[in-house]
Parts: sequence; C-alpha cells; structure tokens
Amino acid sequence: MALKIWLDGKLVDEADAKVSVFDHGLLYGDGVFEGIRVYKGRVFELDAHLKRLYQSAKVIRLDVPMSRDDLVGAVEKTVEANGIVDGYIRLVVTRGVGTLGLNPFVCKNGRLIIIADAIQLYPEELYEKGMKIISATTVRNHPLAIPPQVKSLNYLNNTLAKIEALDNDVPEAIMYNHEGYVAEATGDNVFIVRDGAVYTPPVEAGALEGITRGVVIKLAGQENLEMVEKNLTRCDLYICDELFLTGTAAEVIGIVEIDARVIGDGRPGPITRLLRKKFFEYAHGEK
Ligand code: PMP
Repeated sequence: MALKIWLDGKLVDEADAKVSVFDHGLLYGDGVFEGIRVYKGRVFELDAHLKRLYQSAKVIRLDVPMSRDDLVGAVEKTVEANGIVDGYIRLVVTRGVGTLGLNPFVCKNGRLIIIADAIQLYPEELYEKGMKIISATTVRNHPLAIPPQVKSLNYLNNTLAKIEALDNDVPEAIMYNHEGYVAEATGDNVFIVRDGAVYTPPVEAGALEGITRGVVIKLAGQENLEMVEKNLTRCDLYICDELFLTGTAAEVIGIVEIDARVIGDGRPGPITRLLRKKFFEYAHGEK
C-alpha cells in the first residue's frame, strides 16, 4: 500500500513526496534525522528522540522548521495516516533548497520529512543464535570533525565500515576511534559483560548517544547490575564474557563472534538475554 508522507507541513501521497535536486540534504548531506520505533501504536521514547533531533540541529546551526509541540502532532498524524501499530518512523530535517555552493545560509527554509513504515528486523533466529561481526578498519569520525553525537545525514563514515562488514559476510562492524578505543557499531551502540558487570564506552569515545543505550543502562540499574561507562579496547571485546549491541532497529542483540574470536560459549549470554527480555517488556509497556 502506498504510504502517506509528511512533507513540508502536510501529508502527501508517496508518489508526490519529492524533493528538489538543490536541497542541501542531497547535495551535501546537510541535515539531521531520527529513527524511532512504534510499539503497540505508541511512539517509543519520542521525547528523547526529539531532544536529540533539536540538539543535533543546534550543533549544525539548522533551524527545525516546526516547534516541538507541532512536531509531536505531525509525527502522530503520520503514524495514524499509515495505520502503523508496530513500525518505524524516519524523521528527516534537511537544510532545504539552496544553490550549488556550500553556503548553508542561502537555504532559507529547512525541510521536514516524516516517513512511517513497517520495519525490516533481523530474523528472530539471529537473536537466538547471536550475530557474528568484525572490527572495521575505518576509524570513527574525530569528534572535532563531524561530532558523532550529531545524528547527521552524513553517514559515509558508517557506510564505509558497513561495506567492510558486508564484504566479510557479517551484518555489523565495530568502529574504533582515532585513539583505538571502541566507539560504536555502524548503527548501534556497544556493550560488554565481564564478571557480571556491564560496560559501555562513554559517548566521548565517539558514539551517538543512543536512545536504546540509555534505556538499557536504566534497565541494567533496575536489575541491580553494575553498570560502568569506560573506554574499551579491541582486546576487551575479544576476552569479554558477553558482547551485545543496542539500537532502535536491532533493540538488544547478542554478538557471539568478533574477528574470529568466539565470545563466551558461542551463544548470547544470560545478561544479554535478560536485558533483551526487559527491553521487550519495557517497549511493549508490560513493566
Ligand atoms: N550509533 C549510530 C551511528 C546510529 O546510527 C544509531 C541509530 N541507528 C545508534 C548508535 C543507536 O541509537 P538509537 O538507540 O538511538 O537508535
């Protein structure tokens, strides 16, 4: 079924949802976005996502062309118009139409796009058996280049690492920062478990401050697990008891092999499975 897309203030048919070739989002990757889940008809952690969207926009000096309250309404209308009960929302703000020059300030109106659609999930089997991944050689953007905390439309850094993963027949790759510490995966945050404690790199290591990451940190606290934010090395990943990734699309997924090193007993470990279950309950409003 054709979707209804929110484009510049109203819902339009998918076939009519077109943008200019002079939009700087297209010409320069100049813009920001969010990926948000809908569970049981409820938009998941919308406040946190909108906070991150406006903060990303602020950093790149982009005005989101809508107030926060109006944006909440537009998101809800788009979800409803497409009858999404369990799905995914893509919120995109581009710099808008400009000239072929780089100057962002010639773009007078930012463009707001909202897409609400079904979601392509990893197969259930992958959650049960766990995922194999590799370390990427592509280094995560230096924080003084494109701040990894900004969820910008410029994903080439991640795309290059994703290509490395796919070339190696795995879906994901760990990205390290310029100092060699774990930053994140191409579209997910990274956690390990060692001797019963849970560790994740601090955001300053070059990660996006994932909404799922925040929820999992909270849930780990509720389970009385020791939760530590600290720099992790490649070696830490090789010798940990459990390794898992978190993200809007992936939720919580166990990693069972990295760079041909088997993690734990080669199956998603007990804390990974516990946090996945708690996340499911939280997302579906069962707790
Ligand atoms: N890191 C990157 C680079 C991402 O693109 C994402 C989102 N797909 C994440 C981490 C996870 O963030 P969230 O939990 O907010 O989806």
